[in-house]
Amino acid sequence: MDLALDPPRRSRFAVVSHGHSDHIARHLAGVASPATIALVARRLGVCRLSPLAFGDHLERHDHRIWLAPAGHVLGAAQVVVDAPDGRRLVYTGDFSVRARETVQPASPIRADVLIMECTFGLPRYVFPPDEEIRERIRAFVDRALADSGAPVLLGYALGKAQEAMALVSQLGYPVYVHPSVAQFAEVYLSFGVDLGQYAVYEGQIPPGLPRNARTLYLSGWALDRSTKFRIGVDEAIPLSDHADFAELVHFVKQVQPTRVYTTHGPSAFADHLRRLGFDAQHLGSHQPALF
Ligand SMILES: [Zn+2]
Repeated sequence: MDLALDPPRRSRFAVVSHGHSDHIARHLAGVASPATIALVARRLGVCRLSPLAFGDHLERHDHRIWLAPAGHVLGAAQVVVDAPDGRRLVYTGDFSVRARETVQPASPIRADVLIMECTFGLPRYVFPPDEEIRERIRAFVDRALADSGAPVLLGYALGKAQEAMALVSQLGYPVYVHPSVAQFAEVYLSFGVDLGQYAVYEGQIPPGLPRNARTLYLSGWALDRSTKFRIGVDEAIPLSDHADFAELVHFVKQVQPTRVYTTHGPSAFADHLRRLGFDAQHLGSHQPALF
């Protein structure tokens, strides 16, 4: 089909699943969701991809390409390719099945071939319920303020930061964001996502606000006890924009593929799928990223 899925190098025709920097490049042509195109343009200054909205489709070499929500960051999409003989391929991109403040979750789509990320594809990576995560974030903010500290939430500038903005503003606190976060927040707002009230932090702490920072890192990697020390923060909470191990396995069972390719995670996840009876193969190693 002369079709590349999230190719890391400039390609003639690419489908880009979402706007994180390890999934984008300066492609000559291709498609992505309208929000992904806006985010790529914000990062690279220009984006030559054509918009493909959820619900629309594109015909290419007798195949039909369409996108469905992936629940990861604004615009993140699963890529579906329907072949003329009825076979279907689904590429998840990075995905999460949990309801979020800022994105629609991924729903499994029946497919013959599934290419999926498996970032948290080890049994020890099972995230707590969202209620518990929200409560822990609230407790951290309250505790910092009670100690006359400034709660500082750290997370990837695209996706995690906007989810944190929405969560914390719901707690009723004033939110200040780094300019790197604000540039992507503007794109969220332009697509109608409510992030609550916020101001851009320009390096000067406004009068009346506490000055000693208490830091919180928001990442699925918080499940590793070493993360807190590796990042050098006071606390780490596993708010993730990926599926956890149990969610990955459940997702595969619902897709019911005859073949699974895994990527962006441990090869042990494909081993696990084979033990469950799936024809699964890992597509090469990838260094886990910090988001
Ligand atoms: Zn991503």
